[in-house]
Amino acid sequence: MNDTLPPCPECASIYSYQVDALLTCPECGHEWRAGDPEGAEDGVRDSVGNTLHDGDTVTVIKDLKIKGSSSVVKVGTKVRNIRLVDGDHDIDCKIPGIGQMGLKSQFVKKVSD
Ligand SMILES: [Zn+2]
Repeated sequence: MNDTLPPCPECASIYSYQVDALLTCPECGHEWRAGDPEGAEDGVRDSVGNTLHDGDTVTVIKDLKIKGSSSVVKVGTKVRNIRLVDGDHDIDCKIPGIGQMGLKSQFVKKVSD
């Protein structure tokens, strides 16, 4: 089972082992998240796994009903200058024609602006 684990991104040791969601290298002590070959810090990711950053532009990948109103954010809506926040809706943004609202990162896709 151990042979499916990736080598350590720091020292390339093949003796990494898994503890819960973290992989640990016994040789240099580096810890990183399974499935993240670059060992990057925890980030907010979009529907296809791109890491999102403040100021990114995303598009909405499905129609999203807005609670308490009849408005719908249509699939394909482009949202500029997002801001990442903690919480269930992890993207804070302003949507043209709708205003300030929270989005879930799993319902957006990053676009190059
Ligand atoms: Zn290592």
